Amino acid sequence: MDLTGKVAIITGGANGIGREISKTLASYGAIVVVNYHSSSDKANQLIEELKNHGLTAYAIKADIGNYGDAERLVKETIEKFGKVDILVNNAGITADTLILRMKETDFDQVIEVNLKGTWNCCKHVAKIMTKQRSGKIINISSVVGIMGNVGQTNYSAAKAGIIGLTKSLARELAKRNICVNAIAPGFIETKMTAVLSEDIKQMYLASIPLERLGKPSDVSNLVVFLSSSLSDYITGQVINCDGGLLMC
Ligand code: NAP
Repeated sequence: MDLTGKVAIITGGANGIGREISKTLASYGAIVVVNYHSSSDKANQLIEELKNHGLTAYAIKADIGNYGDAERLVKETIEKFGKVDILVNNAGITADTLILRMKETDFDQVIEVNLKGTWNCCKHVAKIMTKQRSGKIINISSVVGIMGNVGQTNYSAAKAGIIGLTKSLARELAKRNICVNAIAPGFIETKMTAVLSEDIKQMYLASIPLERLGKPSDVSNLVVFLSSSLSDYITGQVINCDGGLLMC
């Protein structure tokens, strides 16, 4: 899999799964544009690290939930590198609690970043990729967008929304040689899941046939495949990356 010279935007690319995606895509030769929102130190440190390995990387601060910010993210990428070959919509947040306790703002913020943020970036990148007549869009959903989860009515709605968005956009852009797919990770060890209690982690572990929690690299390896020409005949799909947690 060779991504030499491909320009990739990774939203939320400085932390967790996104950081691993940025590093892995860069290691396969892609020019990576690392979007971040609050983690400027981590983003800059990652850019330095990649540059020290002779790789090309650039950081752009943007709140992807904001339409204008997402537009600027794509515009700045074009100004700097002239094209966008790969968009990985990875940025996401949680605000978990039972619906009886959930505030309206918990719902709105999670939808704004996870779902509208994905739509915002797709919208601005689609214009570019349509002109290019090529592109790969990879949206990070979640298994809970398929199976639901207690305490995540906001998050699972957003992640299910990403699946609908992915399928509709795949149909819209197929004629222009643009593939749009989603990845549904299960339980991946990052800051997002570090807050869960040991009991909950053990409960997940018991239901994972491969008997381990996921690593960010489990997701980033799949992103590389979906970014490469080896996946040119795959579009509109949701691929679970969950150790067999959900089989459907
Ligand atoms: P994480 O470590 O908490 O990282 C979240 C990332 O999202 C950070 O890089 C953060 O950037 C970025 N972000 C948040 N709000 C943003 C905004 N408004 N604009 C731009 N970036 C923003 O989470 P993770 O576990 O790596 O999750 C990555 C993705 O995988 C998410 O979409 C998540 O829902 C999904 N996922 C994770 C798991 C899991 O088990 N970990 C399972 C299924 C799906 P800053 O730090 O710069 O603010």
